[in-house]
Amino acid sequence: LSEKLQNVFKNLRSKGRLTEADVKTALKEVKMALLEADVNFKVVKQFINSVTERAIGQDVMTSLTPGQMVIKIVNEEMISLMGSETTQIDLKPANEITVILMAGLQGAGKTTTTAKIAGKLKQKGRKPLLVACDIYRPAAIEQLEINGKKQDVPVFSMGDKNNPVNIAKAAIEHAKTNGFNVVILDTAGRLHVDEDMMQELENIKAAVDVHQTLLVVDAMTGQDAVNVAKTFNERIGIDGVILTKMDGDTRGGAALSIKAVTGKPILYVGMGEKLSDLEQFYPDRMASRILGMGDVLTLIEKAEAQIDEEKAKELNRKLKKAEFGYDDFLDSMSQIKKMGNIGDLLGMIPGVNSAALKNVSLDDSEAQMKRTEAIILSMTPQERANPDLMNPSRKKRIAAGAGVDISEVNKLVKMFDQMKKMMKQFSGQMSGKAAKRGRF
Ligand code: GDP
Ligand code: MG
Repeated sequence: LSEKLQNVFKNLRSKGRLTEADVKTALKEVKMALLEADVNFKVVKQFINSVTERAIGQDVMTSLTPGQMVIKIVNEEMISLMGSETTQIDLKPANEITVILMAGLQGAGKTTTTAKIAGKLKQKGRKPLLVACDIYRPAAIEQLEINGKKQDVPVFSMGDKNNPVNIAKAAIEHAKTNGFNVVILDTAGRLHVDEDMMQELENIKAAVDVHQTLLVVDAMTGQDAVNVAKTFNERIGIDGVILTKMDGDTRGGAALSIKAVTGKPILYVGMGEKLSDLEQFYPDRMASRILGMGDVLTLIEKAEAQIDEEKAKELNRKLKKAEFGYDDFLDSMSQIKKMGNIGDLLGMIPGVNSAALKNVSLDDSEAQMKRTEAIILSMTPQERANPDLMNPSRKKRIAAGAGVDISEVNKLVKMFDQMKKMMKQFSGQMSGKAAKRGRF
């Protein structure tokens, strides 16, 4: 999924200006990529609709090119699809017993995850007790005991001759008398969703006060995982999902769909077989991972170091009246600093020919910025407001004032003139509409 989306975005970014048709084409590709990644069909449809609505509607940011804007919207919508916020396991106060029921199909990773969660809870200062309620799978009890030992967390079991309801009840009594405050029930799965399993889970929930029902699903099964989650939620009610084997899932389809389909959040993701391989689920990080972003993300961040809209308008007005002076230059310097370099800044103006920007490069190092600032501050207010006043003797005085070589003043003046000229051209080229939006 990640690779596919990267390609779509590469195409988007190479365009200076996007038409509605460009956006539609790009989103069609995003849609295909999502479907191929096994994202639930209804979720894809709803996702594409909301992205389209925002991309073509009013949601325009001053400092973004349309291509970046689409990427930003896709990113935001993915985050909101996955629930936006990180959700923690809900625990009762430490002086009460929190019962957690682990459910899921056979092989999903319940037993492993049970031990992983116990480790996390221990770190939080809780006293967990693991309970072996899987009486069917051969060696299930032993597996839990081995994992419990590794985490240094006790395991309660009554062998495989008792029924899970009785085991659960006895475990809670045991917890009460032995000072445990979290009881985690590791139940039996089945190969497929079946009546036996659901009935058993219902029986447990009817007999003991289960505070959190956590469903464990295997990310590698893609949309099946989502369907399983939907069925479990409808039948026994779940509070959250743990998505295992994310280390082997390159598509991300299940992660994207689960919240949208079930309304229940993903709490943790399993990232490997080791008991330490359990991570809190962060919708924003997952979105970046799915978008394969690294560079896409920096791009967004850069663009979001937004140009102050009012200042941009003012600048635009001044440019038109040829009033742009060194003070304005200084004003925009902090923004330029945020953008990385002046080329990037100007590159965000629609219609700008990026080849022309090659001549206007500004060393953006802190030291250089400081010297530039010093030079401008050594000018008189008149010189700053009216750059045409500049002449050799003034330059010499300014250089002395700023403590720099005169060649640096020359360089700045030259760059300023070039930039002003170019901005004026852009300003002239620009449609009234774009100017109204506050772009230079
Ligand atoms: P259960 O039947 O639901 O209790 O599943 P188990 O806990 O026995 O896990 C089944 C298999 O999946 C085991 O081999 C685990 O080591 C493996 N497993 C569980 N979680 C993960 C995970 O996050 N990543 C990987 N790669 N393997 C996992
Ligand atoms: Mg198991």
